Amino acid sequence: MTTTNEDAARDEIVRTARALHARGLSVATTGNVSQRWGAGMLITPSGTRYDALTPDQIVLVRGDGSVVEPGRRPSSEWRFHLAAYDARPDRAAVVHCHSPHATMLACTRRAIPAFHYLVTIAGGEDIPCVPYADFGSPELATHVAAGLAERDACLLAHHGQVALGRSLTAALDLAWIVEDLARVYHGALLLGEVPLLDADQVSRACERIGHYRDGIDRS
Ligand SMILES: [Zn+2]
Repeated sequence: MTTTNEDAARDEIVRTARALHARGLSVATTGNVSQRWGAGMLITPSGTRYDALTPDQIVLVRGDGSVVEPGRRPSSEWRFHLAAYDARPDRAAVVHCHSPHATMLACTRRAIPAFHYLVTIAGGEDIPCVPYADFGSPELATHVAAGLAERDACLLAHHGQVALGRSLTAALDLAWIVEDLARVYHGALLLGEVPLLDADQVSRACERIGHYRDGIDRS
């Protein structure tokens, strides 16, 4: 659950960042994790290995992007984290990573279409792939905000993936599911043409997947 205690939130961000490594979703210093905090957020610092990360290194960033403690450097992707919170007031955590299969698809500018019913877990008929922009740029933040306006996850062309949740646990689990869907879709593409669910099937899956999504959100 998302906590209202800052020390507990810092601990949870560290646990989530380490889980990215443990689940094979990121390596070395790639990826970043944040939780909404007031009008701003708590976010992992720039260039710090997660196995060496401590709760006091988590950076508190105001809603205008300024850093509360001078000299602290938030993740280079702080702009798209803030943009995601602005775009989705109903979500409280963001996980970004370069998980290998999601990134393979993103590097070929592919979305994940409705080849499997679980794709609808992100909130619609696909998991879109937003256009490339320089890492850390305001342009990338604009693309991410658009990609997440009606989805809880999207791929970033030539970059990776980003997932939202009502809690850090939910955002991490969604990033994990997106990576698994990408792995299976990649494998299906190797077998040949991949047929997709039709509009009615997608619509029914979207309706029924809500219970599953609620389960993740409660975890
Ligand atoms: Zn990245």
